[in-house]
Amino acid sequence: MQIKFLKSIVETLVNKQAAPIIDLLVDKKNVNEFLIAKKLKLTINQTRNILYKLSDYGLVSFIRKKDKRKGWYIYFWTLNTFQSLKLLEENLKKELGGFEIQLKNRTEKRYYVCNTCSIEINEETALLNSYICPECEEVYQLSENKSVVNELEKNISKIKKELDLVENERKIEGEKIEKKKVIKIKSAEKKVKADRKKNREIRAKSAKKEFRLSNKIKKPSKSQKILKIFKKLKKNKNKNKSISKSKSISKNKNKNKR
Ligand SMILES: [Zn+2]
Repeated sequence: MQIKFLKSIVETLVNKQAAPIIDLLVDKKNVNEFLIAKKLKLTINQTRNILYKLSDYGLVSFIRKKDKRKGWYIYFWTLNTFQSLKLLEENLKKELGGFEIQLKNRTEKRYYVCNTCSIEINEETALLNSYICPECEEVYQLSENKSVVNELEKNISKIKKELDLVENERKIEGEKIEKKKVIKIKSAEKKVKADRKKNREIRAKSAKKEFRLSNKIKKPSKSQKILKIFKKLKKNKNKNKSISKSKSISKNKNKNKR
């Protein structure tokens, strides 16, 4: 279904010969342009011209890679199905609008024909010519609208059906794109979350390390403790000595007083 529509859009935009390019691009990604040229039996320049035209309408996109041996770029093409369907939808709507105007005119206005010259004219022109053909001087006949109206109605219902299908396909494609977007966003969010968690863990680890280090500095080692106690003891001893000294001095003083 979709392929038929896509081909018809290529036919309208480029030409009938270009339509088979859809078979080569549909449901594929990054198709080598030399392969396309070979399959279409066209030269690489003819192939590129078609693809450039389609890319002007946003129907195909490309990536290019440098051929290391030959030194030139090779283009790889991908079909943009959603954009193609959108464009086809627009074209069908335009066509439908044209047919609907014709139908309105046919049902509301009168047309005349010159059966000899096989030409049809609207009522204004017929009135200007006083209902006589200026070419053959035959009197105009009122045109039989019924068959034209039938034909227009057939065309309109056909286009409407096609339009429904294309709109449906376009919606499905749109949903696919949305889903892909959601998946992309979700995986990006997941990555951000994972990164944050990692960073938190790293921070926590380094904080722990720092804490341990600072504790190590604060906590005196065993030998340091012993040294401290030793110093304290020494100090106390000295104090006691000086006290006893001063006591003996005062004793002596008292002795002298006596
Ligand atoms: Zn005539």
